[in-house]
Amino acid sequence: ARSLDALRFVNSFASLPPAFYTRLTPQPVRRPRLVHADAETARRIGLDPTVLQTPGFVDAFAGNTPLPGGDPLAAVYSGHQFGVWAGQLGDGRALLLGEVAGPGGSFELQLKGSGMTPYSRMGDGRAVLRSSVREYLASIAMRGLGIPTTDALCLIAADDPVRRETLETAAVVTRVAPSFVRFGSFEHWAAKGDTGNLRVLADYVIEHDYPECGVAGDEPGAPYVRLLHAVLRRTARLMAQWQSVGFMHGVMNTDNMSILGLTLDYGPYGFMDGFDANHICNHTDTGGRYAWNTQPMVGHWNLYRLAEALRPLAGAAEPLRQALDTYEAEFLAAFMPAMNAKLGLAERLPEDGELIDALWQLMHAQRADFTQTFRRLAYLDAPDSPLEPLHALFTDTAALDAWLERYRARLAREARPAEARRAAMLQVNPLYVLRNHLAEEAIQAARNDDFSVIARLAETLRDPYTAQEGAEDLAALPPAWACDLSVSCSS
Ligand code: AMP
Ligand code: MG
Ligand code: MG
Repeated sequence: ARSLDALRFVNSFASLPPAFYTRLTPQPVRRPRLVHADAETARRIGLDPTVLQTPGFVDAFAGNTPLPGGDPLAAVYSGHQFGVWAGQLGDGRALLLGEVAGPGGSFELQLKGSGMTPYSRMGDGRAVLRSSVREYLASIAMRGLGIPTTDALCLIAADDPVRRETLETAAVVTRVAPSFVRFGSFEHWAAKGDTGNLRVLADYVIEHDYPECGVAGDEPGAPYVRLLHAVLRRTARLMAQWQSVGFMHGVMNTDNMSILGLTLDYGPYGFMDGFDANHICNHTDTGGRYAWNTQPMVGHWNLYRLAEALRPLAGAAEPLRQALDTYEAEFLAAFMPAMNAKLGLAERLPEDGELIDALWQLMHAQRADFTQTFRRLAYLDAPDSPLEPLHALFTDTAALDAWLERYRARLAREARPAEARRAAMLQVNPLYVLRNHLAEEAIQAARNDDFSVIARLAETLRDPYTAQEGAEDLAALPPAWACDLSVSCSS
């Protein structure tokens, strides 16, 4: 399996009716060069990692030569953007190369930034190096954290100029996921009143990704209600995971919501530095619709849009409404144990909620660093572990000490030995997250064709729960220059 011929294409999405997509080929880029490739993702789709360094690989995933067996197409979808119906959108700069059956399951390979499509609207079909580096590294970081995400096979830089606020250069990321279907893919047919194609899509998704939802011979609407429920559970769990590492997506429009509950479409996302519950990572989101603390609610709002879209298939509204009503419980069923685990509480006591809320309030009031606070709590009262590094994250250490007293009292009621608790806490509280300033440093270097910063970050973020020698700087608080970094939708 030492060449691209090892890819076994199945291309199931391309067998849907033509109205679902437009077949087309990627537009070539100038002087493509490999920035980085992910050997783990390569293996999952059935590629030998030695292929990643070959010119044939780079040309194929730059979109410069066709991939034998692929059936490239751009898919159509619609969606709600910032709460407002936006009508038809679609793959404006993404192209599905095809779907392969690999050792880890079946995966769609998608180029992002490969040129204009019939769905590009006012856009140029390209992605700049800056945003492509951010998408590539975030995919690796989220997988390392154990959070469902689309993966990234490789990142390729090119010479083509791309105009944004300034003149930048183009890049192409290859994204990998079992499916790129979005909530907006369903909204698309529902808004047109095309129940036929809506059913084709729902049946395809059930067969391809949710076989447990389709049971032969039951009520006609039941599989679609089960589908909503299954998507809801995954979405609620995803929101709980985002919240628990301080991840903010930035653009939770329904066209960016994966039907598989994956983190999808990395744009102006962010990982929290100093904790501000209302933090808005996307400069363009002036109303704060997608602030950290609104994400779980927005997930619910988006599921309402999906439920509305499924309404013509479900037979009645009531079962869909009942499914939607389980959202908060599903979210809490994932989020509360996650928080208990972050604090090393193996048991769950009724008063734990108050203890955790008090910590959030303390961190918020003092803008304590999200990642370091939880990581440092694991070392509380450990042998040879001074309190100073934890104290240093807070301005009012008396308030911290008061909370720590409550926390110690609670820990005293745990049956688990302190050493085992500490080890468990280090497994769920990352040391390394893709802070904005780290991504920025990687981008600056990449602009000078120095891809070593990206390689180093990829290596470290792959295993974010393990302290790695020589990577102390990657766990550090943001430097002063990073305070006024901002990210926007322009990518
Ligand atoms: P996003 O906000 O990145 O999720 O994109 C929303 C819609 O705009 C999607 O249909 C994208 O495909 C499209 N889009 C974003 N940027 C571009 C671009 N540079 N060229 C063409 N379409 C784009
Ligand atoms: Mg999008
Ligand atoms: Mg995008």
